[in-house]
Amino acid sequence: MKIVLASRNAHKIKELQAFLSPVDPDIEILSLDDIGFAGDIEENGTTFEENALIKAQAVAARGYIGVADDSGLEVDALDGAPGVYSARYAGEHGDDRKNNELLLENMKNVPDEERTAHFVSVLACAFPAEDGRAPIVCRGTCPGTILHEYRGTGGFGYDPLFYYAPFDKTYAEMNPEEKNQISHRANAMKLFLAEFKKVL
Ligand code: IMP
Repeated sequence: MKIVLASRNAHKIKELQAFLSPVDPDIEILSLDDIGFAGDIEENGTTFEENALIKAQAVAARGYIGVADDSGLEVDALDGAPGVYSARYAGEHGDDRKNNELLLENMKNVPDEERTAHFVSVLACAFPAEDGRAPIVCRGTCPGTILHEYRGTGGFGYDPLFYYAPFDKTYAEMNPEEKNQISHRANAMKLFLAEFKKVL
């Protein structure tokens, strides 16, 4: 069975393949490039669920089973910002350093006990119209707090500012195995696999 991940990120393709192969060894994960899907899919939703579904459905409209993810950081003291705008919080898409600096600036007067936040990851799967199966949408989260300064050098995005108390580490101080035990993405994937198995 071919499944198309609405992404061109080779790392994400490999990761999804690793999760889905044990479910069914015949599953093959393809990328947007593999199906000749040119251009970008506009993520104009206002929730992670909407954005993940928009991407999965864009693939399903081409006749493939589409899977997509959308993720970001929600900070309580900022009313959930940066939220769906996490990748472009400081304006430019994917500028991690500027995004982190803006987050620190916006949090500079927030006391420790109010610096709670959580990462969110939503995974969606959409099927071609003639297939008849309903879409799957799963949300995983991970709770933490936003530090006043960077800790750790690993990872990406907001990792060095996101502190996870049970491990006494930021995401940026965890090795991939540790992060994969507790991360929002891992939690979304667990829920997704359970739902996906039911519709296979
Ligand atoms: P996307 O869903 O891959 O587009 O990610 C959206 C943005 O959320 C990224 O650019 C990061 O800024 C942030 N983000 C999502 N997951 C993580 C994570 O595990 N660590 C740090 N930042 C993340």
